Amino acid sequence: MPIWEPEKERMSRDDLRQTQLERLQATLNRVYKNVSFYRRRFKQIDFRPEDDFTDICDIERLPFTTGQDISESYPYEMFAVPLREVVRVHASSGSSTNPRVVGYTRQDLNTWADLVARILSAAGVVQDDVIQITFGYGLLTGGLGIHYGAERIGASVLPTSVGRTERQIKIMQDFRTTVLVCTPSYALVIADRMDSIGLSAKKLSLKYCICAGEPWTEKMRREIEGRLFVKVTDNYGITEALGPGIAGECLHQCGMHIQEDHFLAEVIDPKSGTVLGPGMKGELVLTTLTKEAFPVIRFRTGDICSIADEPCECGRTTRRISRILERCDDVVVVKGINIIPERIGDILQEIRGERPVFQLVLVREGPRDQLEIWVEVTEQLFFDKMREQRTLVDLMSRKIANFIGITPKIKLVEKGSLRREGEGIKPFVDRRFEAVEDTGCTNS
Ligand SMILES: [Zn+2]
Repeated sequence: MPIWEPEKERMSRDDLRQTQLERLQATLNRVYKNVSFYRRRFKQIDFRPEDDFTDICDIERLPFTTGQDISESYPYEMFAVPLREVVRVHASSGSSTNPRVVGYTRQDLNTWADLVARILSAAGVVQDDVIQITFGYGLLTGGLGIHYGAERIGASVLPTSVGRTERQIKIMQDFRTTVLVCTPSYALVIADRMDSIGLSAKKLSLKYCICAGEPWTEKMRREIEGRLFVKVTDNYGITEALGPGIAGECLHQCGMHIQEDHFLAEVIDPKSGTVLGPGMKGELVLTTLTKEAFPVIRFRTGDICSIADEPCECGRTTRRISRILERCDDVVVVKGINIIPERIGDILQEIRGERPVFQLVLVREGPRDQLEIWVEVTEQLFFDKMREQRTLVDLMSRKIANFIGITPKIKLVEKGSLRREGEGIKPFVDRRFEAVEDTGCTNS
């Protein structure tokens, strides 16, 4: 399989380290000069990039940047260039009061397209392919991010965006789509719909399925491969650092190659902040090395993974991150959207002035992930009359949907029935891969 930028993706480790050092030096100087947030943080620890940064390890002295920091800088405070140089703005979903807003210069967009072209090439995409992108085209980075990378390769792009599954299938069939870009659960939704209309995936021209946007398992990969007759690869992107294009698997399917000439990746112990060695599981921390408009220094992704540094058979010399299966904070990722349970509590509290006892529960309905919010019934909060209960449940569902962008199912459960952890209620329970048990639900 061709490598998109072979001279960069197969750079010797020594050359790569030198490139990282030079780019990091330039980035630190720039944020110190242009972003008051970083200047303040660096001054607090008496760190002057020009004098105090001589080795990559020096970065371990610098404080972390969090999603909260970015939300508080809403909308443009952390931009490192004037708005007139910004040609595109994206934002991550509203997981706290303010979304996290990021910007891109013309050069950033150019780099982004190449980085996405690298991960798509690694996943098998070539100029002759017809690539169907079912990610949303909007403020989230998924759709447009993949789009321009696919165009850079010269593939024929079908920007079908989200939803309307039967139309997606008809397009796949009629336009002879060879590459499908989707969330893993949507690949299974498509497979299910094809079963129900009696269409075999063998009748399609599909070769590859490129998945991202939500935590998923090796078992799901094998299921998608078996049902759609494709090879499936995983890739990783977060808006705060770029969007798609940060890391992606090659066809050897052994972890996602990090674009290390553009990102410095560290894995830390989420509690102590200590940097961990290769193979050790911890929180992924990313520093951008070339971003102009929105550089981030030591951004805590909240994603738990490990880094593999053994050589890969594909010839790329970059290290690889393992599949992201869990997070180290309370953020729940559903359909690519970050949700903080505390904020859901705030919304529920606004409705009737009382904060109910509740829990976010992720379940699988067929192939789809469904977010449920289980609320314990109290006399103050709910009345006996069925119709009034229904109205309240609908109101809760609508208010939350307005805030997070997806509609949760509200379930009323008996007092004391939510899963406890020590003294407290677990804010989130993932039941997708559990056997279904009796939940004592009184409503759904
Ligand atoms: Zn590889």
